[in-house]
Amino acid sequence: MTIKYHVLEETLLAYAAGELDNASSLLVATHLALCPKCRRAAEIGDEIGGALIETVAPATMGSAALDSVMARLEEFALEGSIKPVAATKRGATPVLPEPLRSRVGGDVDVLRWRRLGPGLQQIRLDDKSGGPSVRLLKIAGGRSVPEHGHAGAEMTMVLAGGFHDAGRSFGRGDIEWANADVVHQPVADEGEDCICLTVTDGPLKFFDVIGRLAQPFVGI
Ligand SMILES: [Zn+2]
Repeated sequence: MTIKYHVLEETLLAYAAGELDNASSLLVATHLALCPKCRRAAEIGDEIGGALIETVAPATMGSAALDSVMARLEEFALEGSIKPVAATKRGATPVLPEPLRSRVGGDVDVLRWRRLGPGLQQIRLDDKSGGPSVRLLKIAGGRSVPEHGHAGAEMTMVLAGGFHDAGRSFGRGDIEWANADVVHQPVADEGEDCICLTVTDGPLKFFDVIGRLAQPFVGI
């Protein structure tokens, strides 16, 4: 497994500083479980963040400090020398890594999916903290999520199977990031069901009739 699309640097930095909302934190922590490179970068961010707080008065911590943290993170992203965790025996790896597995109370076999539309099911995982919404999505092989735009940011991480969108393909551990300017239609790869963890900040904007009609009922 080679992860191609990672957590955005500013998101990782906010996570390391403990400033990320619960929904995004769940996605980032789940990515870190699969991605040694981001795990290392988050540790570095945490160390640098701690050192900055200790040595620099908050009022003087301007963009230069942030730039230097970003530069360090960039180095680690480019370095690519961090060894992946040793693979476990085939079949022994759960589909849902921690902390997601604890959150849903088991691996994929315990999930109780709710139908959203043809070939599309979800499980909402929101807690009571407010903020962005988090859910598991299952897209049947070869099917697509209806074309949609966003009122805010959307992060989608693949846990099983894969999908492609606008010429890029996403596999296990990869994160697709979209903002309010992006209109897209992810399509699951043929074959295996694609299971994703998705965080959305604000409701999606559907352009087709089925998506629009279903929206009030499914809360997507
Ligand atoms: Zn990563």
